[in-house]
Amino acid sequence: MSVENFNKKENSALSGNIKNRQVRIVILGGGESGVGSAILAKIKGYDVFLSDMGKIKEKYKNVLLKNGIQWEEEMHTEALIINANEVIKSPGISDSVALIKKLHKKNIPVISEIEFAGRFTNAKKICITGSNGKTTTTLLIYHILKKAGINVGMGGNVGKSFAMLVAENACSTEKKDFDYYVLELSSFQLDGMFEFKADIAILLNITPDHLDRYNYEMQNYIDSKFKVTNNQTENDAFIYCMDDEIIANELTKKNIKAKQYPFSIKQQVEQGAYLNENNQLIININKTNPLIMTIQELALQGKHNTYNSMAAGVTSKLVEIRKESIRESLSDFHNIGHRLEIVGNVHGIEFINDSKATNVNSTWYALESMHNPVILILGGVDKGNDYSMLNELVKAKVKAIICLGADNEKIIKAFNGMVGTILEANSAKQAVAQAYKIGKKGDTVLLSPACASFDLFEDYEDRGTQFKQAVRSL
Ligand code: ADP
Repeated sequence: MSVENFNKKENSALSGNIKNRQVRIVILGGGESGVGSAILAKIKGYDVFLSDMGKIKEKYKNVLLKNGIQWEEEMHTEALIINANEVIKSPGISDSVALIKKLHKKNIPVISEIEFAGRFTNAKKICITGSNGKTTTTLLIYHILKKAGINVGMGGNVGKSFAMLVAENACSTEKKDFDYYVLELSSFQLDGMFEFKADIAILLNITPDHLDRYNYEMQNYIDSKFKVTNNQTENDAFIYCMDDEIIANELTKKNIKAKQYPFSIKQQVEQGAYLNENNQLIININKTNPLIMTIQELALQGKHNTYNSMAAGVTSKLVEIRKESIRESLSDFHNIGHRLEIVGNVHGIEFINDSKATNVNSTWYALESMHNPVILILGGVDKGNDYSMLNELVKAKVKAIICLGADNEKIIKAFNGMVGTILEANSAKQAVAQAYKIGKKGDTVLLSPACASFDLFEDYEDRGTQFKQAVRSL
């Protein structure tokens, strides 16, 4: 963490914010977003208190201590929280927790870190949401803007928190604020947003996910995702996937004020992005001077990534980046690991790590982009999955399934009789060894689990890393 002590540039701001000292801001959650909010609130002169029900990481504790911010861990002392003027809640805390219910009852505003940080920057905000592809698209847009020489920061779910970035810029004597922020937003962050406005909002797709936090009502989750368009005016832009039936259907009901830029691989659009009959990607925002690229030129392959490239391409055109620069960046981008990451080829068998595929939809797209016979490694913590949407692709492309989870019964039942071989493994090493044994030259072993990883691994990164290590030691 580069932020050590915020007493430089903001000294003057602090004294100018005397009235803020009467305002008590309580932050629930001592992770990246909570600590970022605490620092930002502190430099703006508020009375700040941070409370975390779990343990706070050492690096964050040090930052809190150095900046004289009061905090507690492994408890929520209600008396110190319920007297807040405003509460900033970490996205991990559900609205159904008793403490949050109490705050609502007492009409104490509960907001997200994004809402809070948005008050302290005049930069333009590019906000990316969707069930899948957020991180990839956020990184891609950041890559294009940065390479084009734009003064841009990236935050939200990826990298530093938005609040931390705003705080750093506010107190740096050398740096001015960014001109643009590229922000990855989950539905939980969107839920705590009220006056925040995205200058460019991107909605990649909506498929069932996290329904446990939405009363098992899909409509609640859809409404949450659409909050990315809240407060937008006709001067703002809304970029969305027109092929997504849920989004298309919802748009017939919602009154979107922003200018709309759809993208599609199925039909031509006037302003937005589409694939023409020659499989060329056309990005067009004002009817003249479109950017035309073949999909082979794109660094990110697979249908899902064509969508992500389309969203990023339209955004970049709206930011008025030169066509040649966009083309180059869409071609030379390197995605971060665990997302259809090619690990290597051992005796003609290709190994791909898609450990970040934690729901059925992302596994569908992974399978869809495969060209060779697939040995699919699937399983983990099931989030109420309906595997039937994979049936067609499994029948057409998968020769064997290796179940990598503590409880594989549901998967075995779902695919019994559909593929030649179903095996079970309880470690990445065992799964790789089994795949290697049954694999033939020209096969692809794909780890794309469709499930969370917490039964056998620390997280999806740990799962992917163990998979890669096992492949490398074959
Ligand atoms: P998120 O940040 O939304 O979780 P990531 O970019 O980390 O998304 O990708 C998560 C998983 O979803 C990966 O397995 C990836 O291959 C897949 N994926 C990426 N983009 C899309 C998309 N547009 N539609 C469906 N799946 C996608």
